[in-house]
Amino acid sequence: MFSKILIANRGEIALRIQRACREMGIKTVAVHSTADADAMHVRLADEAVCIGPPSSRDSYLNVAAILSAATITGAEAIHPGYGFLSENADFAETVEAHGLAFIGPTAEHIRTMGDKITAKTTMRALGVPLVPGSDGALADLNMARKVAEEIGYPVLIKAAAGGGGRGMKVAQTADDIEEAWSVARTEARAAFGNDEVYLEKYLDRPRHIELQIMADMHGNVVHFGERDCSLQRRHQKLLEEAGSPALEPAERDAIGATATAALTKLGYRNAGTLEFLYQDGQFCFIEMNTRLQVEHPVTEMVCDVDLVREQIRIAAGEPLGYTQSDIKVSGHAIECRINAENPETFVPNPGTIKVFHAPGGLGVRMDSAIYAGYRVPPYYDSMIAKLIVHAPTRAEAISRMQRALDECVVEGVQTVIPLHRKILADPSFQKGDYTIHWLENFVASQT
Ligand code: ADP
Repeated sequence: MFSKILIANRGEIALRIQRACREMGIKTVAVHSTADADAMHVRLADEAVCIGPPSSRDSYLNVAAILSAATITGAEAIHPGYGFLSENADFAETVEAHGLAFIGPTAEHIRTMGDKITAKTTMRALGVPLVPGSDGALADLNMARKVAEEIGYPVLIKAAAGGGGRGMKVAQTADDIEEAWSVARTEARAAFGNDEVYLEKYLDRPRHIELQIMADMHGNVVHFGERDCSLQRRHQKLLEEAGSPALEPAERDAIGATATAALTKLGYRNAGTLEFLYQDGQFCFIEMNTRLQVEHPVTEMVCDVDLVREQIRIAAGEPLGYTQSDIKVSGHAIECRINAENPETFVPNPGTIKVFHAPGGLGVRMDSAIYAGYRVPPYYDSMIAKLIVHAPTRAEAISRMQRALDECVVEGVQTVIPLHRKILADPSFQKGDYTIHWLENFVASQT
């Protein structure tokens, strides 16, 4: 096992990884920008190294500074968390070239899944069902028209390098295809420096359901069930559940078997998430994330597993030590992402947290790096906490989340807590009756 791990991230996820390390008796190295000198992940780490100025490009994305920090502190492995360098294949490769372990998949698999076209062709070859669409990249507008006619409108033009919902445009009819084609490509070129696009059938009322996978270096692959992440605004998830209110256990087992068989054939290692759109009982693969997800705690609660600990054990070469039949999904978990944003306009609201009281009690978990007096910096993501509850049934989990949100006090910055309260009180949400479009409509209906 490693004796020291460098955590190349900040905020709640840096703290989350640190907690797993501490419980495993592993020393931690925090890295931070000058804006984060007082951050909790820095205060609680065994060692901390400043890696640059506030801008992410110069600090949390600064590969040379992070590798120097690892070298001078004698760290043996690097955990990238989510975001920042977590899905950067070159980074994973460089880490390993320096004789350190990268706590994640191989650079090759990160690269394959980072290009959504390659990801889809790879998954199709492995027997995973896809959203109907173009067979690879679109060569030109004529090809886009032709494929759209074949599969039928509406269609979605998506960037091969896409992420965060950018470079994605819907064409409702043939009249819109030219504009969707050019806007998607322009956006993709601006955001990713790559204007390669592909086309998918636009599903009108799917749920976003994703599967948590874990694979060791000895060919063992398991899944920890699904998360329903349909509640999104501008393709950003806001509230997640495990399991999905829409899925029967037999459907979970079936897609789980397909996914684990595919990743076994691929020789995948460490944590990964397969994202699907689910409509009319069909799963359609859209992308794979080759890292820990923000919403991993809901899976941890229902499966009673520490996914970060598993990632570290696997990176150190340990076998899983259990099989699929040992994994049981029990009860229901919900996560609310607490962003420092205006709950109506969603404009980020950085500032100083004057009062903070974290909720507690049975089945309540708060993953956060904030404290009273902490200044939320304006440079990074606006998520300041994740509130997670676990209860025997979905109805009880909803009541528990409502109770926990009522207990939660954050003063000094605005948060989206009032919106979460409204969602949890909504009858359609309570019935589990929602698709990926539900939240946008709900937000619009509130104003
Ligand atoms: P990104 O990597 O930019 O997040 P994804 O491919 O994961 O892109 O898609 C993000 C979201 O966009 C999905 O969660 C879903 O809400 C929506 N979406 C993606 N593909 C489709 C599709 N074919 N039909 C309808 N909605 C889609």
